[in-house]
Amino acid sequence: MLQVSVVADRLSYLDWNATAPVRPEAAAAVAHALTVAGNASSVHHAGRAARRLLEGARASVASLVGARSDEVVFTSGGTEANALALRAFPDRRILASAIEHDSVLANAPGAVRVPATRDGLVDLSTLEQLLAADKRPALVSLMFANNETGAIQPIAEAAQIAHRYGALIHCDGVQGAGRQPLDMRRLGCTLMTLSAHKLGGPMGVGALVVAGGWDIAPLIRGGGQERGRRAGTENVPAIAGFGAAASAAMAEAATWATVGMLRVQAEHRLAAIAPDAVIYAAAAPRLPNTICISMPGVPAATQVMALDLAGVMVSAGAACSSGKVRRSHVLDAMGVPEREAECAIRISLGWNTSSAEIDHLVEAWGALYARTRVSAA
Ligand code: PLP
Repeated sequence: MLQVSVVADRLSYLDWNATAPVRPEAAAAVAHALTVAGNASSVHHAGRAARRLLEGARASVASLVGARSDEVVFTSGGTEANALALRAFPDRRILASAIEHDSVLANAPGAVRVPATRDGLVDLSTLEQLLAADKRPALVSLMFANNETGAIQPIAEAAQIAHRYGALIHCDGVQGAGRQPLDMRRLGCTLMTLSAHKLGGPMGVGALVVAGGWDIAPLIRGGGQERGRRAGTENVPAIAGFGAAASAAMAEAATWATVGMLRVQAEHRLAAIAPDAVIYAAAAPRLPNTICISMPGVPAATQVMALDLAGVMVSAGAACSSGKVRRSHVLDAMGVPEREAECAIRISLGWNTSSAEIDHLVEAWGALYARTRVSAA
């Protein structure tokens, strides 16, 4: 059995696709908003103060994706925004790529699945065939970037195809927003999902951005909040934190080039240690921060635990919310054999990842690789 007895004396957080650390600006905005007593729907002084915070945040979130403020509908997170998007147009049939996040696939159980290529990209020619074969109005749900592999999807091309057949595009922009330029009009999207905690805001808040004045069916009915598109008193402190995180993310766009360089260096070093390792979606355009890599013969859970003992925090390629590792539907859709996919982990960097953290990762992963090769010999 593998012996792992490292006591971590330093910690490296490399799981930014699971959640990003809260930015100081966002924490300060939340703390400030908690001191404002009013309900944003109240017309008195305190209510107006809360409304100002709400609308300021709405403007920041809108500009993150090139939208207008009135197009932003705040939700309890990316999952709810995806659920709202997929029920927004009840008369449209839904097509979704096979590599979408569970919050898309589970909310559109009847969706036609569009396959992915071996490189982890949605297969555009099949998308076109599927749209041509059934001319009923459709909604096509495609993510901007995959949460496991980081592969950036050809959204603009997909939108051009979709529009030729009268279909609309919903884009799950959760992993792309704040990391890549994301202009929903330029991309041709009608609906865009965002989540605050992936860009340094608090957990439990997100948005569905609805471009072009489309009327959407609400998921939650009640009061007339969010222009009748999402009932319930707005979570003003969380939304204020979301707005502050969105503004901070826009201000530091340049740092992602550095993150991309660190990622490339990390990949080269890991591949040099383990020539039999596979980096997934390597041939696709990818987020600057995401590495999905397998260490053949070593289950993802073993790698995650060994790295954690060494102080390096990463995820299994397909960790679900219970923390259990299950088969990755993404790697499956890419045609990766199950035995290989079981050995895939996801390493994800962020705006303040340092080269020392990459050294730490390479050291810990390399030590595990060496131990497993000795124990296998
Ligand atoms: N969509 C993608 C691509 C994600 O990675 C996630 C979270 O991991 C979600 C949606 C769900 O977002 P939230 O955690 O805000 O519900």
